[in-house]
Amino acid sequence: MTSRRLLHLTPFFFSASVLIATCALLAGPASAANPRAVELVRVHAPGPTLAAELARDPAIDVAGYSPGRLLDLIVTADQLRGLLGRFAGYRTSVLTAQVEAEIARRERERGLGRYHSYDEIVAQLSTFATQYAAIAQLSIIGESVEGRDIYVLKISDNAASDEPTEANVLIDGLHHARELIAAEVPLYIAEQLLSGYAQDARITNIVNTRQIWVAPVVNPDGYIYAQTQDSWWRKNRKGNYDGSRGVDLNRNYDGAQSGDPAGDWGGEGSSHVPWTETYCGTEAFSEPESQAVRDLLKSHPMSGYLTYHSYGELVLWPWGYTAGPTPDDARYKAVGTELARRIPSLSGGTYEPLQGYDLYPTTGTSDDWGYGGAGALSFTIELGQEFAPSATKIDQICADNLDAALYLAEVATSTVAMK
Ligand SMILES: [Zn+2]
Repeated sequence: MTSRRLLHLTPFFFSASVLIATCALLAGPASAANPRAVELVRVHAPGPTLAAELARDPAIDVAGYSPGRLLDLIVTADQLRGLLGRFAGYRTSVLTAQVEAEIARRERERGLGRYHSYDEIVAQLSTFATQYAAIAQLSIIGESVEGRDIYVLKISDNAASDEPTEANVLIDGLHHARELIAAEVPLYIAEQLLSGYAQDARITNIVNTRQIWVAPVVNPDGYIYAQTQDSWWRKNRKGNYDGSRGVDLNRNYDGAQSGDPAGDWGGEGSSHVPWTETYCGTEAFSEPESQAVRDLLKSHPMSGYLTYHSYGELVLWPWGYTAGPTPDDARYKAVGTELARRIPSLSGGTYEPLQGYDLYPTTGTSDDWGYGGAGALSFTIELGQEFAPSATKIDQICADNLDAALYLAEVATSTVAMK
């Protein structure tokens, strides 16, 4: 069993009314003994100003944000101390204990519990390619920083040949290491497309008329590290010049290539400080993992692109770098709203659709580039309400997301205006 260096502070709960007690608790020696000790803090019903301020602070790690519902932050004890004043008037709770209990339960169950390891995902993809040889083909699109293969499974009738008349759709997951559910959903979609072929009329039609590319783990090094060493790990495992580790792959894509210099890599919502969680790298596409996705997006004229993250139960579309609309804004609103309508929330209702920038500004994301650089109708899906939901929720979230993915494959029939 590998060792797991996770969370070490004593869990506690607080509200705005007991901030003094909180400060006292935080004054203990834990953070000094372990500078990586972190807490997961939830601000309930966050106001837009507070959320925008915190999301723009590169030193703060935003775990998940759902406007008006929750803003989850991963912070050190020192950072939390500094933030307490800004939380005044909001109900807040520390969720660290809940997350720790879930991780411990998974370990007791069987290693990662229901989550696939990287090796298991590779084995599963290989099995798919053998079992469904006529409609599935496995290939390697690149190698991670630490030399692991990044796989894509192509699903289409006559999978072995390229059919230029068929629309191409890319479905990927796990740019961010800790978002374990974001690998499970693409894997599930692949399995459903394959097992449903010649059984289900809707799926059969999609497989016959599209080339679907599924890459469940874009960031294999980070995935393994998050599963075995540090549940909060987000970035890849690049060794940075300052001795820190990791580039945020979803800030490492080039600018939106819209001609607007503000859309360039490294702008608002990304950081140039290597140790921060939104570090964009030394240059656009400095990382082999983002290069692999870029090259795949460029290798075929992609009509649609779904990239899975967690969490917040959101459907996001470009631009992320500016509040301005894309030339395809009406189409994005229509398709994005329909995608969201088709994905049930775990707590009732459905996912929320919005332009990425309206959540918070980001630059160098794969969906901005997938649209601006590759001409695909591109959406980011923020799955669920936590990074690694429990076993029963994994099944639920996977099943709940199938219809929307099929819908995008059905409507994304041609590349869009930016191309
Ligand atoms: Zn993410």
